[in-house]
Amino acid sequence: MDIFMSTYKFLGTTLVLLRGSIVDVHVDAIVNAANSALAGGGGVDGAIHRAGGPLIMEECRKVGGCLTGRAVATSAGRLDAKYIFHAVGPIYGHHRDAEHLLASAYEACLELAEQHQVTSIAFPSISTGVYGYPLKEAAPIALQTVIDHIKKSTSLQQVMFVLFSNDDYAMYEQTLVDLLAEQHNN
Ligand code: ADP
Repeated sequence: MDIFMSTYKFLGTTLVLLRGSIVDVHVDAIVNAANSALAGGGGVDGAIHRAGGPLIMEECRKVGGCLTGRAVATSAGRLDAKYIFHAVGPIYGHHRDAEHLLASAYEACLELAEQHQVTSIAFPSISTGVYGYPLKEAAPIALQTVIDHIKKSTSLQQVMFVLFSNDDYAMYEQTLVDLLAEQHNN
């Protein structure tokens, strides 16, 4: 299988776009696109619980739940990571102010990263699966939120977006190129 990857440097932090499954990457913190009950589900949530084993769900049950736009940390079970950050994105067409809630879900993970002093983190494309957020609208929010964060002082040396399909990867890459060109011209 071809490997698609591109990297961009912002001060001391590298932003990486990767096509693949998030359970295969080696980072301090893997972000899960969870639901507010932290009850597990399909998509990336199912893949993380399958690969990480039952410990993650045990910890999720103890936490009990998470508000939309927020994130909570558990350990990573069998996965090669220190933490799973379970972020709850908005359901498109259901939550008002979805744009703000989506940015807030990413910000909550970036705050957890600073609290736990992690140096690397991997995000999936939150809300763009079952939760129905159009990728074309979600990608600039996801990327801009991360860029705004890593332009400041941060413990993060690497931030990765792991996109599950070629189309998702291509959309994130084009969006990032457009955002950087726009910011360069301003
Ligand atoms: P949500 O409910 O937040 O929409 P989903 O898991 O349904 O979450 O989808 C979010 C994104 O994660 C989608 O783009 C989906 O294709 C992608 N995805 C599914 N499995 C994986 C995986 N193993 N690694 C990375 N991304 C994944």
